[in-house]
Amino acid sequence: MENTMKLLKEKLKATGFKITPQRRAIIEVLIENENSHLSSEEIYDKVRVNCPEIGLATVYRTMQLLDDINGISKLNLDDGCIRYEINVEGEDTHHHHHLICKECGKIIEVKEDLLDDIERTIEKSYNFKIKNHDLKFYGICGDCLDAGKK
Ligand SMILES: [Zn+2]
Ligand SMILES: [Zn+2]
Ligand SMILES: [Zn+2]
Repeated sequence: MENTMKLLKEKLKATGFKITPQRRAIIEVLIENENSHLSSEEIYDKVRVNCPEIGLATVYRTMQLLDDINGISKLNLDDGCIRYEINVEGEDTHHHHHLICKECGKIIEVKEDLLDDIERTIEKSYNFKIKNHDLKFYGICGDCLDAGKK
């Protein structure tokens, strides 16, 4: 957590941006909610608790900035709302996969890549260097499956 903040600060500095108190507050919310995949509006609601003077436009701009410096990754669930998560390693870091429950909307992370063989095959067959992928599985989560049994 400390480390993530440090890495992001360095990234901001390297691209000529300053870490303002508002940007810091937004980054802290992202770090505290690491696995929550928050939308800009949800981030805004959480940041406002400690930073009531902040505006939604500042949140939008900061998310754009963090995206530009490869500090976050975006998750688009095709429901008209983009969710964000902190991902500081940069564009060379492989993204984890997401399981999305069609019943309750829960998002579960798959930490393992599991695609090494497929990637190697694609790279060979198509002469293409894979840098990342964005994989979403849609289905029904364990809780919803259990609830359906009752
Ligand atoms: Zn569910
Ligand atoms: Zn995620
Ligand atoms: Zn991969």
